[in-house]
Order: sequence, then structure tokens, then C-alpha cells
Amino acid sequence: MAIATVDPTTGETLMTFEALGPEEVEARLAAAAAAFARHRLTSFAERAALLERAADLLEADEQSIARTMTTEMGKPVAAARAEAAKCVKAMRWYARNAEQLLADELPADDDVRDSGAVRAVVHYRPLGVILAVMPWNFPLWQVVRFAAPALMAGNTCLLKHASNVPQTALYLQELFRRAGYPEGCFQTLLIGSGAVEGVLRDRRVAAATLTGSEPAGRAVASVAGDEIKKTVLELGGSDPYVVMPTANVERAADTAVTARVQNNGQSCIAAKRFLVHDDVYERFEERFVSAMRALTVGDPMEETTDVGPLSSEQGRDDLEELVDDAVRLGARTLCGGQRPKDRDRGWFYEPTILAGVTDAMRIHREEAFGPVATLYRIGSLDEAVELANDTSFGLSSNVWTDDEDEVRRFVRDLEAGGIFFNGMTASHPGLPFGGVKRSGYGRELAGQGIREFCNATTLSYR
Ligand code: NDP
Repeated sequence: MAIATVDPTTGETLMTFEALGPEEVEARLAAAAAAFARHRLTSFAERAALLERAADLLEADEQSIARTMTTEMGKPVAAARAEAAKCVKAMRWYARNAEQLLADELPADDDVRDSGAVRAVVHYRPLGVILAVMPWNFPLWQVVRFAAPALMAGNTCLLKHASNVPQTALYLQELFRRAGYPEGCFQTLLIGSGAVEGVLRDRRVAAATLTGSEPAGRAVASVAGDEIKKTVLELGGSDPYVVMPTANVERAADTAVTARVQNNGQSCIAAKRFLVHDDVYERFEERFVSAMRALTVGDPMEETTDVGPLSSEQGRDDLEELVDDAVRLGARTLCGGQRPKDRDRGWFYEPTILAGVTDAMRIHREEAFGPVATLYRIGSLDEAVELANDTSFGLSSNVWTDDEDEVRRFVRDLEAGGIFFNGMTASHPGLPFGGVKRSGYGRELAGQGIREFCNATTLSYR
């Protein structure tokens, strides 16, 4: 895949970039390792000052970087600004909380005595150079939510960003440089995915984190496994959105629209499968369908646009194939189901709801990465749980209910890294984020996230 900015609204190639050659990659690896040797010795206060400065700069750049993101991958520009603001918040959050999150931990006195020590401490130290392989869908956020804690822990970062967001990738490198980070603390590697293995096998790289598809996660984790290097994987999702009889159906239907089409439907934590109880099904369907129909599809640079194009032609084709496969096997299209007729350029797809989906259809099992919802009718709590878990993914999940017994049952049985009751899934710097099953492993954000790339060192004094 060429490293290039191709505007998904027009299909036009705006800028192309040469991939780094082996010597340039080597220079960056050396710089990252040298920077780690110094950065690991800095105090939390010094690291926090740098990250606060980066946050201030990003805040000032919000408008311009939002337009860059929209140009590169098509998200509505208002959502792009919100993404930049969220990054600022996460940077400040880690700048202010990292020291406490990585404070020494004291095991229980009994255990210390029993181990034969007079004192024992768990002390967190950074791991080293961390390679981040990142996707285009939240081109700032996915990187910042890794980099902010990694830098605060004392690690240094190498970013291999998705090939279709090179300007955003270079902006990030420049942002950290302008903030005053010493050379080598945060570097962007403009390389294709084929060059990742060599970087990951390099002895100077300690660990890797990847957000993206299952095949990409498998490829990176296999190499890391072979090298016995730690990985965190945040892969796809097919999150259920369950609506039970006690739910506020109107709020559930209105929120369902945002939960499905945010980021033009290209979010790992978007709700994708809507499981609605018989008792409220008709009310939910009617409101959900009419709200999806009312969305404005168009130029993502327009403030009034709800849904822009998909990020790539391939992404649009993949989504279209999933819908066509379902329709061929008997699914009903309640709205959408095709490319908008009034757009002859760009990779647009209409907001779509499919009903009558069966397990013979690909869309029942695969992640629909675009504004396409599947709507299922359920008759009982057991059926809700069973269908919610009938997926290889386990990222997050949404449940609308006011029944305490139902809440307890979902908490016990839903196979997912998060359960959001009476609202949609949204990440926050203070809440751990990640999945189970094929959605990956490890956690980002919060204390769990910053400790992933630390060496939890046991100190025992006798
Ligand atoms: P990919 O997983 O292919 O891309 C994500 C990142 O991984 C990119 O930086 C990519 O580089 C890199 N990559 C891809 N293959 C390899 C490999 N074998 N070794 C090392 N690095 C690799 O995502 P796509 O853009 O192709 O999207 C495909 C599907 O993935 C989507 O439809 C969606 O289902 C899922 N996805 C999930 C995301 C999430 O947030 N969980 C985000 C993006 C996609 P390069 O761009 O150079 O190929």
C-alpha cells in the first residue's frame, strides 16, 4: 500500500511519501534507544512538563489538525476537532496522574514476613523502546492514548502509522519535538507493513502495541511471540447493543444512531448488532430507522454533515460485499443498502439497517466497518445473552435496562472488556479499555494501560 494522502471525499491523491530506507530506519532505532537511556532517568515532574506542553500545542492546533485528519480519512470535521480535544485531555490526565499510578506498591506485611524479607516493594520501571502500529480511524487518539502513558512511564516511542494518514503521523512527531522532547523520544517511521517485522525483531525494541485488524494483530503478535516481546492488541469488535423491556426506548434508539455511525461507522467500539426485546421492538425499530434515514451524508468538511465517506475504496467495497451477501441470503434492508445516488465521487455508503440476519450471513460473524447496523429481535434475557456472545469478538457491549436482576446477569455473563449500561461505549483516560476473545488482549488507558509497558520489579530486602 502506497504511503499517501488520498482524499476519500473525492478519491484524489493529494500527496505521496517515500518509505524510509533501511539506513533511515536504523538511524531512528539508534535514536530511540539513545533517547530511552536518558528519558528513563528523568523525573515525573520533567516528563509531565513536556506532556503538558504537548497538550497546549495540540490544543492550539485543534482546527488545523482536524482538517488534516478529515482530508486524510474522511471523518466529519467536528468529530475530528473533538478527537483532538480528547487527546489534549488524555495528555493532561497522564501528566497529572502517572506518578501516582506508578507509585511503589507495598505487599501485605504478612506476605513480606512469610517471604523471609523485612521489606518488599513492587517498583515500576519503564521497558524501553515501544513500537506502536496504529490504524487510521482515530489517527490522533489511537496514538496519543498509547504515547501519553508510555512517555510518562519513561519509555520512548516508534510510530508506524497506517499508510493513508502520513500527514497526521508526521504532525505527531513534530508535535512532540516542538513540545521539547529530546530527539528520539517520539519518532514516526514512514514504512509499509512489510517493514514492521524487521523493526520489531530489532534488539533495541522492547515491546509492541497494535490497534487494527485481526490479521495485522496476528502478524505482529507472532513475530513478537517469536522474540518473546510483550504485546498489547486492540483489534476489531462487533459490539452488541441490547435493549430490554424496562429501557427508555426513545433514548436507546436515539443513542443507537450515534453509537453506530460515529466516525462514519468505522470504530472498533461502535455498536454493530442491535438486539431488541420483542416487547419494545416495534417502537425501537421505527425510531431507529427514521433517525438513520434522516442523517446527512456528505462532505465531511461541512459542519452539518453527519456521515462522511469511508476511509478507502477497499473499505467501502468490503462493506458493500457484506451487505450484498446478507441481502442475497434473505436479509431485509430497512434503510440504505447502497451507495448514495447523488455522489459520483468518493467512497460513500448510505446509513443502513438490516433485519432478518441469520448465522449463514457473513455480517453475522464479521465486523461491519461502516455505517451498517444489524437489527435482531429477541424474546428473553437468555436469548439476549446468548446472541450477544455469539461472536468471536469481545471488545465492549451496551445494555439498556432498569432491571437490577438483568444488570447482574449481564455483568456475570457478557463476554466483553466493557459493559456500558444505558449509554453507548466511550473511552475515557481514567477507564481501562480493551477486549477479550479475538478483540485482543491487554488494556490501554487508566492505571492498567500505563503499567502494560512497565517492568513491575519486585524489590525484596532481607
Ligand atoms: P489494518 O489492520 O490492516 O491496519 C492497521 C495497522 O496495521 C496499519 O498501520 C497497517 O499498516 C498495519 N498492518 C497491516 N498489516 C500488517 C502486518 N501484516 N504487519 C504489520 N503491520 C500491519 O487495518 P485496515 O486499514 O486494513 O482495515 C481492515 C479492517 O481492520 C477494518 O475493516 C476493521 O474491521 C479493522 N480495523 C479495526 C480497527 C480498530 O480500531 N480496532 C482500526 C482499523 C481497522 P498499513 O496501513 O501500511 O497497511
